[in-house]
Amino acid sequence: MSDVLLDIRDLRVRYGAIEAVKGIDLHVNAGERVTLIGANGAGKTSTLKALAGLLPMASGDIRFDGHSIRAVPAHRLPRQGVSLVPEGRGIFARMSVLENLQAGAYLRRDREQVDEDMEGLFEHFPRLRERLGQSAGLLSGGEQQMLALARALLSRPRLLILDEPSMGLAPIMVEKIFAVIDAVCQAGMTLLLVEQNARLALQVTDRAYVMDSGRIHLTGNSAALLDDPGIREAYLGE
Ligand code: ATP
Repeated sequence: MSDVLLDIRDLRVRYGAIEAVKGIDLHVNAGERVTLIGANGAGKTSTLKALAGLLPMASGDIRFDGHSIRAVPAHRLPRQGVSLVPEGRGIFARMSVLENLQAGAYLRRDREQVDEDMEGLFEHFPRLRERLGQSAGLLSGGEQQMLALARALLSRPRLLILDEPSMGLAPIMVEKIFAVIDAVCQAGMTLLLVEQNARLALQVTDRAYVMDSGRIHLTGNSAALLDDPGIREAYLGE
C-alpha cells in the first residue's frame, strides 16, 4: 500500500488515570482528504498532539511516508513535509503578517516561487495583503486563522493538518476559511482535518473517522456519513 501517506496504528494517550486515546488506527492516503470528528473531549486534539510529537507518553506507531515520526519533535515536522495548524492557530503575535508568512516558507530556497505562492494566497485572502505590515496579534480571530492557514501552505506541505479551523469564528468567516480549504484540496493537497463542526468537515472531505471516548466509533465515506441518520442525529444536530 504505497499510497498511504500517514499511517497511525494502535495510538494510545494517557494523562495519569485518564486514557484519552484508547488504541486507534487511522490512515490518510496521498491526495486524500480525511476528517476526524467527534464531540468535545473525544480525544481528537490528543491524537493530533501525539502525531505532532508533543506527547512523549503516547504509544503506538505513527508513520509518514513509511518512516516512523513517533520521535520527531513538532518543530522538525515541516522538514518532513507535514504542516500542522494547531487549535488556537499558533501565529507569532508580535511579528508582522509578512514576517509570519515568511516564517512559513523558511525552509524553501525557491524565492520566486514563494512570492508567486504568496500572491496566489492573497487572492483567497485579500485582507492579509492589506495588513502585511501590521502585527499579527492585532488581526481579528478570523484573519489570524487565515494567516495561520496561509503560513502553513507556504511551506508547501505534503500533508496539511488542521485542528478546529472553525473554532470561535463567525459563520461568514468559517464559510470563507472552508472555501479556501476546499480550493486547496481540489488542487491536490492531502488533508487531515479535525473539526467539531461535523457538517462542514464532512462536506469538504472524502473520508471520515468518528471518534468517541478515545476510540474510533465509526469510519466511512464522508458523503455517506452526511446521509447517515445516526450521524445526523448525533453529530449534525438533527
Ligand atoms: P475538544 O474538541 O474539546 O478539543 P478533543 O476531542 O480534542 O476535545 P482532547 O482534548 O483530546 O479531546 O481530550 C480528551 C480527554 O483527555 C478529555 O477527557 C480531556 O479532559 C483529557 N485531557 C486532555 N488534555 C489533558 C491533559 N493535559 N491532562 C489531563 N487530561 C487531559
